[in-house]
Amino acid sequence: MVWDTDSTPISNHRFRNLRNRLLFFYCLTIAVILGTFSAAVYLLAAHDRNQQLNAHLYQVAAASAGTLEIIQHEYEELTTEDKYKGYVPIGSDGMPVPITLSQLMGKYRAKSASQIAVSPLTASHQGVEWYNAQRRLMVREGGLFLQTSLPSDIPQHGILMQSGNIRSFTKPIYAASTTNAAQVLGYVRVTESTVTLAAELHRLRWSLIVGVVTVSGLAALGGIWLTRESLRPVVQSFNQLQQFTSDASHELRNPLTAIRASIAVMQSHPERVHPADVEKLTAIASASAQMSRLVDDLLLLARMDQQAPDQSGWRRIALDELLEDLVELYHDRAEQAQVSLKSQLLPGVEVNGDAAQLQQLFTNLLTNALQYTTAGGTIGVALQRMGTHALVTIQDTGIGIAPEHLPHIFDRFWRADQARSRYEEGSGLGLAIAKTIAQRHKGNITVQSQLGEGSCFQVKLPLAG
Ligand code: ADP
Repeated sequence: MVWDTDSTPISNHRFRNLRNRLLFFYCLTIAVILGTFSAAVYLLAAHDRNQQLNAHLYQVAAASAGTLEIIQHEYEELTTEDKYKGYVPIGSDGMPVPITLSQLMGKYRAKSASQIAVSPLTASHQGVEWYNAQRRLMVREGGLFLQTSLPSDIPQHGILMQSGNIRSFTKPIYAASTTNAAQVLGYVRVTESTVTLAAELHRLRWSLIVGVVTVSGLAALGGIWLTRESLRPVVQSFNQLQQFTSDASHELRNPLTAIRASIAVMQSHPERVHPADVEKLTAIASASAQMSRLVDDLLLLARMDQQAPDQSGWRRIALDELLEDLVELYHDRAEQAQVSLKSQLLPGVEVNGDAAQLQQLFTNLLTNALQYTTAGGTIGVALQRMGTHALVTIQDTGIGIAPEHLPHIFDRFWRADQARSRYEEGSGLGLAIAKTIAQRHKGNITVQSQLGEGSCFQVKLPLAG
């Protein structure tokens, strides 16, 4: 058979899931790397710009600190000497109000108080304030000030504060000549607006976010191509394996049928068989029957793996009737095994699907229940509605399944410890087939079991609309 694997698209749902998972983790990794990198860039830039702003505040504070003594002297002259009376207005508390640096310097130019012009604000985004030792504001310059008084506790090296959009640095100034280092001459407070800085950082933040999203999007596009290319050989090998299984099973069917037919003919004429060979013939018949079942199961699984569910062949199936027929079919076998087989089937429960496949699903569960339930046990088959689904429960009081085996029982060719398995003829494909059929019908199958107490298999299938 010629089979062009190169053109095979990744259609198998298992590979689609794998591809999507790979793609998801690839994109996640790229996004995390880019995100971390961008966050680091942002934090570094923010730190750097903040440091720059702080350095500027320290610089202005240092420069202003040198002028404190002169300013204090000039201000005291203006507020105490009679000839300047009126230059500095008196506040409601009876104390002189703060003036600007230009007003202070104006005393050398002006002939009268009214001639001391108020200078326009030099910079509206920053300000400098000079305080005397009693923390009383004397002079201010600039256009941005805090409306609060000086912080109560100011360390020797000054204090940096952020309130709202204003960052301030307050520094105590000490008399250089005095031996008493703690003697404060006054204070200088420098303020600067952080609005521009915040806007800059906001812009940077958005640029980085847009960058990360764009690059992640491009990486996702690349990832789609990458995952498709990297999975192609795996998909091809898997498809080839499936095709081989399907072909081999198919090819094995004819010789097996011929062998079984020949054995049946021989067994139908026991007089022609040497008495010493009767037992061997029975063993061959049993082995070929088991091999036939295995080949049929393999072929069914391989075909279901290869083909997407063909819903055109589906029809409405009355599950209660299908299950009733099955229970009837296995009634005698249950009686022989001294197992009580009971059913409780809600009538009129219909699902859409392939009748043969659904029959196979429930046959596998029912034969398992019969195989693994000892004499005197009970098997219950129940059908009920659960919302938009039909729920089929096949419960037995058999040998049960060990908890460590439960995760594996739907795996292909998995069988519990042979010593425990009474069913020597089983292939280990029955539950794998049941699960595949349930999934192809948009349903699922679950199991609950307790060793020595029994098992309960539940199949959920969507009800026919
Ligand atoms: P097998 O052909 O061996 O029955 P299955 O796929 O149908 O293969 O089942 C896989 C294994 O799960 C069985 O070998 C058996 O150990 C366990 N098992 C399945 N159904 C039951 C059950 N009703 N009670 C106990 N064990 C079960």
